[in-house]
Amino acid sequence: MIVRLRDHYGIRDTRVLDAMNSVPRHFFVPDALQPSAYGDHALPIDANQTISQPYIVARMTELLELKGDDRVLEIGAGSGYQTAVLARVAGQVFAIERLPDLARQAQARIRHLGIYNATVKCFDGTLGWSAHAPYDGILVAAGGPDVPEPLVAQLKEGGRLVIPVGERRDAQHLIRVVKTDRGIKREDHGACAFVPLIGHYGWEENK
Ligand code: SAH
Repeated sequence: MIVRLRDHYGIRDTRVLDAMNSVPRHFFVPDALQPSAYGDHALPIDANQTISQPYIVARMTELLELKGDDRVLEIGAGSGYQTAVLARVAGQVFAIERLPDLARQAQARIRHLGIYNATVKCFDGTLGWSAHAPYDGILVAAGGPDVPEPLVAQLKEGGRLVIPVGERRDAQHLIRVVKTDRGIKREDHGACAFVPLIGHYGWEENK
């Protein structure tokens, strides 16, 4: 998996590759799918959600350009895999998952791996998590119609926000927002497909 990320997908950040090498991905997928845990694809997890393709996890983490003492907000913790990878490259990770069962399981897996600099809470992440703001990096692992305003507000100057944005619920472009002293810079990093971001600044539920 690591060789493919480096040689095929061009992931260059060695801290990201090391982090992905050290987190056991099979631990985050359902038992029956463990043999495919290191394949080049997303996999279903509970509650109709997915654990993202390894390349997407690596690319989003790389785009955050994190340093060892950075504070990160993650929205859509799902299985907790991306949370664990972020915890290896950043100082502190605050993760949000809207589905209570997933949030509980993600937190339990992370503790089981002995990761203590990440915490998972259950609420609507489109509102951000103001108690720990501002953040050096914000990663959203579900696709919304636009960049939620509270997340931009909770970004530090110089901070990076990575989020899939699209007019349709099932197709997005990976957008990176960088907050500078002269305002917001917005970059397009190509097409992608995530599950919908559901919440106040996302899509409505059950549509
Ligand atoms: N990074 C995760 C991906 C999980 S899929 C992994 O690798 O396992 C995206 C997750 O976003 C789903 O679990 C979904 O429930 C969650 N989600 C969707 N909208 C949300 C919101 N407003 N706040 C928090 N989590 C949300």
